[in-house]
Amino acid sequence: MNWLNHLVDIIYPKTCDACGEPLLGGEKLICTQCLVNLPRTNSHLQTDELIERRFWGKITVSHTIAYLRFSKKSKVQYLLHQLKYKNKPELGVLLGELYGQELKAADFDKHIDLIIGVPLHIEKEKQRGYNQANCIAEGLSNALEVPYDVTIARKVVNTETQTKKSRFERFMNVKDAFELTDKEKIKGKRIAIIDDVLTTGSTIESFATTLLDNGCSEISVITIAIAD
Ligand SMILES: [Zn+2]
Repeated sequence: MNWLNHLVDIIYPKTCDACGEPLLGGEKLICTQCLVNLPRTNSHLQTDELIERRFWGKITVSHTIAYLRFSKKSKVQYLLHQLKYKNKPELGVLLGELYGQELKAADFDKHIDLIIGVPLHIEKEKQRGYNQANCIAEGLSNALEVPYDVTIARKVVNTETQTKKSRFERFMNVKDAFELTDKEKIKGKRIAIIDDVLTTGSTIESFATTLLDNGCSEISVITIAIAD
C-alpha cells in the first residue's frame, strides 16, 4: 500500500511541526531550516543564570539545562503544542534525541546514571495517550546511552492548573503529588528529571524532593524549553 501513502502525502503533504510549512522529501517532523535556526540556549556549554536560578533556595540541583528558549507565538511554542495536544509522541522522541546528541558531544552523559520523565497522572496520560516527558526521556536515553525508566514513579494527585496560583499555593498544590513504586532503583543514583518545559518549576521541585527524600544522590533537570 506504499503508493497509497504516497498519494496521501501528495494530497495532504506532511508539515513541519515548528513552522507548519510542507516538509521536503527526507525531512522528518521538523524542516531543515527550523532545525538549524531553533533558538538554542546552549546552557549545557555555559552557565545560564536565568535557568540555574529557577531552583535556587528551593532544592539542590546539580545541573539545570534547557534546549530551547520559549516565547509566546514562537516556533518553539508551536512545537510544544504539537507535542502535547496533537498526538505526536514521536516528536518528543525526536526532540530528546536532538538535544541528547548535543549533550553527548559535551560529555553530559558522564553526569547522570538514570533518566526519569516527570510522571503524568494516569487520567491525564489516558486522555493524551502518552506522557510527553517520557517520550523526551526515551530520545535522550537513546542519544546519551543512559537508561531511562517509566515505572519507578507515578503521580498520585491529579493537580489542577497552576497558572492562577501564588508560588506558595502552587507548591502546596503539588506537594506529595508523587509516589515511588520502587525506591531501591533510585538509591545512590544521579538522576536527570525530564520535562517538556520549565516554567515556575514547582512540579519538578516537588518530584525532585520525593526523589531526594528517598535516597537518590543527585538531581539534574533537563527540559526541552525554558519560559521566561
Ligand atoms: Zn519548519
